[in-house]
Amino acid sequence: MEKTTVHLPTAQNKVIILGAGVAGLHMAAQLRQRGIKDIVLLEKSDRAGGKVETIHSQGVAYDMGPVLITSAYRHVKEALRQYCPENREIPRNMGRKTRYAITNLTSDPSTLEGGDYVDWMTAEMHKAMGGTHSSLSKTTWCVLKAAWQYLKIHRRIFPNHRDGLPPRPNTTDLTLLAQQNTLQFLQQHNLEVLTPLFDEAQTGQGYGSLSDVPALYALWWTTPTLIWAFVKSHLPWGTPLETILEHGYQPLFEGMIQQEKLEISLNVDITHIDRNHSGAHPIHVEGIQNGTKVSYNGDFLICACPAEDLLPLIKEPSQREQEIFPQLQTLVATSTLFRAQVPQHYWTNTVLLHNPIGNHRLLVFRTPKADLNNNRREDNDLFVAYQYGEQDTTLEEINHTMLQNLHEIGVKEIRIEHCRKHRYFPHFGRQAIERGYPWEIFAMQGHNRTWWIGSSACFESVNEVFAYNKQVLDTYFVATERKSI
Ligand SMILES: Cc1cc2nc3c(=O)[nH]c(=O)nc-3n(C[C@H](O)[C@H](O)[C@H](O)COP(=O)(O)OP(=O)(O)OC[C@H]3O[C@@H](n4cnc5c(N)ncnc54)[C@H](O)[C@@H]3O)c2cc1C
Repeated sequence: MEKTTVHLPTAQNKVIILGAGVAGLHMAAQLRQRGIKDIVLLEKSDRAGGKVETIHSQGVAYDMGPVLITSAYRHVKEALRQYCPENREIPRNMGRKTRYAITNLTSDPSTLEGGDYVDWMTAEMHKAMGGTHSSLSKTTWCVLKAAWQYLKIHRRIFPNHRDGLPPRPNTTDLTLLAQQNTLQFLQQHNLEVLTPLFDEAQTGQGYGSLSDVPALYALWWTTPTLIWAFVKSHLPWGTPLETILEHGYQPLFEGMIQQEKLEISLNVDITHIDRNHSGAHPIHVEGIQNGTKVSYNGDFLICACPAEDLLPLIKEPSQREQEIFPQLQTLVATSTLFRAQVPQHYWTNTVLLHNPIGNHRLLVFRTPKADLNNNRREDNDLFVAYQYGEQDTTLEEINHTMLQNLHEIGVKEIRIEHCRKHRYFPHFGRQAIERGYPWEIFAMQGHNRTWWIGSSACFESVNEVFAYNKQVLDTYFVATERKSI
């Protein structure tokens, strides 16, 4: 058996955080608010923010990473109030009609029409029921019933869960959620009518296809609050599900850095991590910064970047760490800012190309300009395109696929202005879930003076990463104040 002394950070400690992305910055801000002042963030790249990146052009904010806020995003909303109150949330459902154009890439572009997303979704649900009901209003009724049923199942498996790591289910449920994919879960519970909603919530956000990813992740992400918000947004009298930020996501993190006076070292390529260093401070991190050797000493380590990358750098990683983190699987997400002549029937603020997630085919492209201007946009506007893939491939190939897909639907004169490719949605496979790895990570927080946070430890979304940080702090930090080490 390994020695598993749990260490917790205290106000007297110096804390080193690896990764100044969403999780690292939020954790640093939270720690400073709880009295830990001596914190340094070590960041590999030349900027803070991680996947968050907002490009401004002619007064419009184009988010290349996170862009959406759902009504379930209570932690993001709280952070906005605190660090960036002037950054207004803009509803994305302004002008419900022709908000989306839906197509598939096999259609003849000349026959494509802009459509009402809600009508399309209702028709998809009707189809998912095998067209067994004669009227669409009956379909709406069946959707409401199924959503209610889903809420009951969710509450039984994950009692009182709102966000962050859900409570560990009992063994029978955990085995099912590991073995079943989302489609099988929906079928088992006669919830097929909800398939298009899950398609949008999961596949539409790049979290893998419904027939592949273990159902655990569908339930983790699609909480009762979210499913209810989804359902409401798809009803004819519905309320908007999503907002975007007038000035983008980046100012939120700039606000955190400024208000909390966070100390960040950029361009640090970490080469070695020792958590049992002899000397005044047990944590010792070495790296190269702009060609020069650097080292940092501290009392507590917080890993807020891809866990599988850090593992080989750690002197004597624990057995659990070696067992768990290499099991993480990731997808790839690419966002591209481009200017183009987009046909008038895409006179919408978003075009969803109804594709199964796969080999980096174009899923969505959108312009925030239409959200800001009540669905008005001009010719030759800037758009952001999103592509997701299961396997890594070169950026050239991904761009090529995007251009080909855009040409197929009649978009012309495309000029790529900026492009970002990210590892995305780290998640576990069936066996690792059955072994309870997401909960094992939580249980080993504080072992070897280390916390593991960010999307490698929880779920890929800004709100989930914030929620997980708070769970870790509420579980392990408050305890410190009571029994200081
Ligand atoms: C295209 C796209 C769209 C998205 N849309 C949304 C959305 O609409 N809503 C939403 O909620 N979420 C969205 N997300 C997800 C959200 O961005 C992530 O969940 C969030 O950024 C995860 O935070 P993180 O801190 O785990 O990782 P990151 O934000 O990626 O931060 C990790 C940081 O660690 C640094 N790093 C990596 N390796 C090392 C190392 N060895 N040493 C030191 N530093 C290192 C990285 O450079 C980075 O700064 C989107 C993501 C992408 C890519």
